[in-house]
Amino acid sequence: MLNKRLAVALTLSGLLAGATACGAPAQTAPASATPSATTAAAAAWELDPAAGAQRIKAAGLDILTAEGTAEHYHAHLDVLVDGKAVTVPAEIGFSFGADGQPNGISALHTHDTSGVIHIEAPTAGLKYTLGQVLSEWGVLDGKDATGAPHSGTGGWTAYVNGAKQNAPISGVVLQAHDEVVLSYGAAPSPVPSSYAFPAGL
Ligand SMILES: [Zn+2]
Repeated sequence: MLNKRLAVALTLSGLLAGATACGAPAQTAPASATPSATTAAAAAWELDPAAGAQRIKAAGLDILTAEGTAEHYHAHLDVLVDGKAVTVPAEIGFSFGADGQPNGISALHTHDTSGVIHIEAPTAGLKYTLGQVLSEWGVLDGKDATGAPHSGTGGWTAYVNGAKQNAPISGVVLQAHDEVVLSYGAAPSPVPSSYAFPAGL
């Protein structure tokens, strides 16, 4: 299922990206990335493709038919719950048709599960935030009343390039080659402070 979806995403990426540098091959998630026993907590972090269009709009972004070319940069996101990594899904910021095929993309999106956030915008100079990524992902939005780490922003701390952020996590602005860490519970030690972006990103 995941591999099929990734293949679809890659096809769309190829169609949408054209000759842009974003055509860099996406990393295929290893089979071991899918836990054999999916817990409810883990499932709550998964992306719901059917909600993609609605969540792009909730993030205040437009659904585009192609990746924008006026601005193109990348940041990296690590999500840690008590030091344990949560997978950042592929295809955050995509919309899908009733047939399950991608039919749109926002300026802020992921192509794979590496945690690399792509900003490919048709307009230069706009700011994109961690909160918009989370809106598109559909997590930490306060709609899950279970009190689990994914249910709201309480208990979360953000770090950018190793520096703890004092402002609300949703307002963290993503800048080129930022390493952003979202941490819940026990603070990571050490805090990841940089990310080795693949060549071209
Ligand atoms: Zn890109």
